[in-house]
Amino acid sequence: MSDTTISFTIQGDNEGYVTFTCPYCNSDFKLQAGEYQNEEEPFPDLFCPYCGLSKEKTGFYSEDVLEKARELATNYAIEELNKAFGKMARSVNRKKGIIKMTYKPLKKVNVRELKENDTQEVEFQCGNCNHHTKILYCAGASKIFCPYCGVDI
Ligand SMILES: [Zn+2]
Ligand SMILES: [Zn+2]
Repeated sequence: MSDTTISFTIQGDNEGYVTFTCPYCNSDFKLQAGEYQNEEEPFPDLFCPYCGLSKEKTGFYSEDVLEKARELATNYAIEELNKAFGKMARSVNRKKGIIKMTYKPLKKVNVRELKENDTQEVEFQCGNCNHHTKILYCAGASKIFCPYCGVDI
């Protein structure tokens, strides 16, 4: 079977921010969808604004996004199965034999709508690369790192 890419867009909050989760410290932060998906400035890694550790950007997808990807992949597989079995049933039934094949298509799973809540994060702009991020800024945090270039903001 050949590889199939499943892509979908994520709706941001009303300022266009989308939630990401740090795989190390499990903290959520937000990035502007337009900056994150800017094809003219692709970047391989993201930095966690809280702990400063970096990983390839796919490692920062939030649980909701991963769940949605799984649901879409499941539906894609179901659709392919339905197509294949439907074809098989038709070709079996066309022959005047005693074998009759009925195939009941599988039902697709519900795909969640990803919605961002407007929470009380603080917006920061990196002085180095000018990208934006929104984080939950607690008084205890002494340093904030830019998710794109990793410098202190
Ligand atoms: Zn972290
Ligand atoms: Zn930066």
